[in-house]
Amino acid sequence: MKISMVSEHASPLAALGGVDAGGQNVHVAALSDALARRGHTVTVYTRRDAEDLPARVNVGPRLEVVHVDAGPPVHVPKDELLPYMGDLAEGIAKDWGQRPPDVVHGHFWMSGLAALDAARQAARRDDPQAGPGDDAGYRIPVIQTFHALGTVKRRHQGNEDSSPPQRRWLEPAVGRSADRIIATCSDEVFELKAMGIDTGKVSIAPCGVDLGLFSADGPPAPKPRTHRILSVGRLVPRKGVDLVIRALPHLAAAGFHDVQLLIVGGGAEPGVLHADAEVRRLLELAHELGVAGKVTIQGQVPRGGMPGIFRSADAVVCTPWYEPFGIVPLEAMACGVPVVAAAVGGLQDTVLDHGTGLHVPPRDPEAIAEALAILLGNPGLRAEMGAAGQARARTRYSWDRVAAETEKAYQLAMAEQPATLGMEGAAL
Ligand code: UDP
Repeated sequence: MKISMVSEHASPLAALGGVDAGGQNVHVAALSDALARRGHTVTVYTRRDAEDLPARVNVGPRLEVVHVDAGPPVHVPKDELLPYMGDLAEGIAKDWGQRPPDVVHGHFWMSGLAALDAARQAARRDDPQAGPGDDAGYRIPVIQTFHALGTVKRRHQGNEDSSPPQRRWLEPAVGRSADRIIATCSDEVFELKAMGIDTGKVSIAPCGVDLGLFSADGPPAPKPRTHRILSVGRLVPRKGVDLVIRALPHLAAAGFHDVQLLIVGGGAEPGVLHADAEVRRLLELAHELGVAGKVTIQGQVPRGGMPGIFRSADAVVCTPWYEPFGIVPLEAMACGVPVVAAAVGGLQDTVLDHGTGLHVPPRDPEAIAEALAILLGNPGLRAEMGAAGQARARTRYSWDRVAAETEKAYQLAMAEQPATLGMEGAAL
């Protein structure tokens, strides 16, 4: 199959841990790689966000990344990228030329717009007689993975949500116009239904974990204290890292004093940690609570450095306000480390309560401390949960398995040849 991926802000080649570089980058990179290994030819289209990027990067056999000129060639926050989606679509359709792909797969709502638009342009080219809005016979099937939904973001972030207002109507329109949607967890299917999207065209395929990289075999990074609690991710308030800092005094009251909370991620740019407002907020909070000596913010860590850090942890804590999927708990499980997870979104599917970790209610520092106290005080339980996590990661979440499920969604979309061309109601 010839597959085009569209990932407007999240390049598979980007460094991870910045505000807009996390799970989507990992997902697009690993899924594309796994599909290419299965024999498909995959091109990932992303926006050129630096002047010196080559037009095409050959990543491996049958896998390349194409940087499309769309907007200024510098980093632009993802919530300001909407005006450039027309150019992105045009660049993609131009690159396809006379050899369009069998499917185009959009990642995040704005890439969905660009994917639909590019597919429409290619169909018109295929039928020169077709006027604007005409339904030509052929169209490239469009598959959409949202990664995150505006409805959920608004519910949790309210006025803090910096998404463009158009997301309110364009995101559901992408959902209605795409031929097939891939939800990454069961919770997302309910959200899609509430958005008015026909769940008959929704397939579920989770995110995966790189089992070659993340495993319990290998040396752990050194840890300076008896216990290490680990938090990994983009440092944005909704990830709830402050809740883990707030749990530390409760943990001390429960008798666990020699504890380090290691926070990986953050930093506006690698090496410029204190320029990051969220880093400053978290450190101030730690000072206020008298736990600054226990908190280390490490900044962005490249992929290769992550497994050793996971292995050095007694527990990984993931307590976001909400979580569309969450790859970090899978990485922890694959490395044999139990996870304390807020019972939200995809974390309810990945982390088995009392199996591979412990669930806690959202936004509850005392519950986080209680769960951590159970794990830190019980090495046998940690080992048991760690082993169960490894087994679960291996059997359910290999990227090869995720790619096979994604492939099925592509085949369904190709079999149900789309009837309509239009991106209803959408104007960029
Ligand atoms: N990550 C990383 N280095 C960092 C911070 C994060 O490699 O400094 C990776 C992390 O290991 C995971 C991804 O970024 O693979 C974050 O994905 P997740 O789905 O947990 O969160 P999202 O970014 O999608 O909100």
